[in-house]
Amino acid sequence: MMRQYELVERVKAYDADAREALLNKAYVYATQKHGSQKRANGDPYFSHPIEVAGILTNYKLDCDTIITALLHDTIEDTDATPEEINKLFGPKILKLVDGVTKLTQIELKSADSKQAENFRKLLLAMSEDIRVLLVKLADRLHNMRTLHYISKPEKRVRIAAETLEIYAPLAERIGMHDIKEELEDLAFQHLNADARNSITARLEFLRKKDDNIVERIVKELERVISTDGPKVEIYGREKRPYSIWQKMQRKNITFGELSDIMAFRAMVDTMPQCYEVLGYLHAAYKVVPGRFKDYISTPKPNGYRSIHTTVIGPENHRIEVQIRTHEMHEVNENGVAAHWAYKQGGGRDKEGTQYRWLRDLLDIMEHATEPEEFLEHTKLAMFQDQVFCFSPKGDVIALPAGGTPVDFAYMIHTHIGDTCVGAKVNGAMVPLRTQLNNGDQVEIVTSKAQTPNPTWERFVVTGKARARIRRFIRQQQEDQYRDLGKAIVQKAFRQAGYDYSEKGLEGVLKIFKQPNVVALVTAVGAGHITGREVINAVFPGTKDAQTARKFVPQDGKNRKRDHAIPLKGLIPGMAVHYAGCCHPLPGDRIVGIVTTGKGVTIHTIDCDTLETFADQPERWLDVGWDNDGEPEHFVGRLGLTVAHESGALSAITSVIAKNHGNITNLRFVSRTQDFFEMLIDIDVVDVKHLTNIIAALRANPVVNTVERARG
Ligand code: MN
Repeated sequence: MMRQYELVERVKAYDADAREALLNKAYVYATQKHGSQKRANGDPYFSHPIEVAGILTNYKLDCDTIITALLHDTIEDTDATPEEINKLFGPKILKLVDGVTKLTQIELKSADSKQAENFRKLLLAMSEDIRVLLVKLADRLHNMRTLHYISKPEKRVRIAAETLEIYAPLAERIGMHDIKEELEDLAFQHLNADARNSITARLEFLRKKDDNIVERIVKELERVISTDGPKVEIYGREKRPYSIWQKMQRKNITFGELSDIMAFRAMVDTMPQCYEVLGYLHAAYKVVPGRFKDYISTPKPNGYRSIHTTVIGPENHRIEVQIRTHEMHEVNENGVAAHWAYKQGGGRDKEGTQYRWLRDLLDIMEHATEPEEFLEHTKLAMFQDQVFCFSPKGDVIALPAGGTPVDFAYMIHTHIGDTCVGAKVNGAMVPLRTQLNNGDQVEIVTSKAQTPNPTWERFVVTGKARARIRRFIRQQQEDQYRDLGKAIVQKAFRQAGYDYSEKGLEGVLKIFKQPNVVALVTAVGAGHITGREVINAVFPGTKDAQTARKFVPQDGKNRKRDHAIPLKGLIPGMAVHYAGCCHPLPGDRIVGIVTTGKGVTIHTIDCDTLETFADQPERWLDVGWDNDGEPEHFVGRLGLTVAHESGALSAITSVIAKNHGNITNLRFVSRTQDFFEMLIDIDVVDVKHLTNIIAALRANPVVNTVERARG
């Protein structure tokens, strides 16, 4: 375990601005907080954050990052609180520690590789600051280095698989090549120990058989290049077991056939020298066709630059040589962290821009993803326009920012979206309009009886959900207009003294420019064509004897049932609307007013608004309630005058609740010293229900007056 002074010295060696006192404080704080906690191997727990900090000093990361590494498990695993960290180390450190804690708390449950990609994006989206991700990677690296101490084999395998699927590619994505390789190799040990052992045994055998082969080849290559060419440093090494394994799998070859298990690196000072080295190599040795790659002229998406070539080299060994400058090498190996080092060193940042490294990083990442429109200056803004949520099965679902449970439901399956009635986010019921956050666990509650709700369209953000809701509403509206229109036309036939016949309608389709009978009655239902116009066309010369008032039922009891168009089955808000001025209820005597393109609006027969339509008899429609079937809910509006005293409001609401009324809206109209007036909207079954509630309210002493509100 690294000692306190040792860690501080390492940071001070590369960061002249290091806040030594704060660094010491963090070291002491972490050891105190983790106290007697133990790691799986019996070491004190605090050795872990200190090792993580140590790993990060290898990348010369700034003092804040090192402090964050020391504190990274305190919130999650000890009694440390964010408030305390803020007080002791300040808001900047808290934000970083908090970021690492959040990454630790989310967990991938699905092994699907498509899920892995989304999960990586989630981690990137949650790492607002790249340093958060660097600490998390170092944390994972140290945990992998000590994974063999974990006793449960399933746990080891799960962590190793997650490392291979998620963290190694993340390290690669931000260019931390050596962390990526080490993570992969450690994971390989736990996932396929047999394969790894046979590869290492084989390497061992080859090493013994051909003593000092790597050193001999290095010497020979240096001689071939540097005799006439540029000064070059050659490094040779065996490839890592995991990369050999991958090659064996990819090319479907056995170990015996796999010749290039050694990798050589030629490092020079300048880019032109890279091509000189290439020239000397190709002049001296036979080139293996199809293996040459120039990543200097075309860098890899993650910023990797190098020339790769394979030759039949010294002693007839087939070898791969990677040619690069020292600077390219540093970026290739350490990625983002190398940019940090440049920034710290000051002079080496040729642009002189403080956040050069960040822009480079973003350039790197953008090659691999959608172009982002907005990049916040000091933040890692990747995927900030998306949120990533979990399904109960552990699948990661990507949504645009602002996505709601309805969007989520449609993302899983159209049917789930169509029938969703509620949602649980992280175990608690939330309204469907709730905006989801990264890492939320979302469970959709469905009901067979549910259909897409028009109000959803106001808050969904995905095109898929919106298109589906719109299509459903349009279809439903068409159906409703068709049913209403058919009822209107049938009634118009009867009133004119004829039997309804589709044949008659077919004959007049041309006049109304409609393709078929269904389209014609739908147009009537929507209010584009009146029933009277249809009759006049089918039976030219029919007397227009009906007047508006004759449509209005004089007395509900005398009304012939087949004269009134039943409202049953017509959904409020589609072809039929209930007027907000008079709030009609079942049992009320009602009349419909046809509105062009919007269907019918229902008013109570005594509503003042009706006078506006007195001179438009063609728009009046005789409609009636249809009381059989399931009780539906309607809004009744009451105007109350109530004594201005404490408890008055709760008295009123409890009276309404006792009478099974559901208050949907409540508004104060005026207030004096003694009274206040208010309007209450209540969901009721019919007018009788509302009358009961009114009677119960009148019986309560706090209520001065209560009336149905009109107009
Ligand atoms: Mn940790």
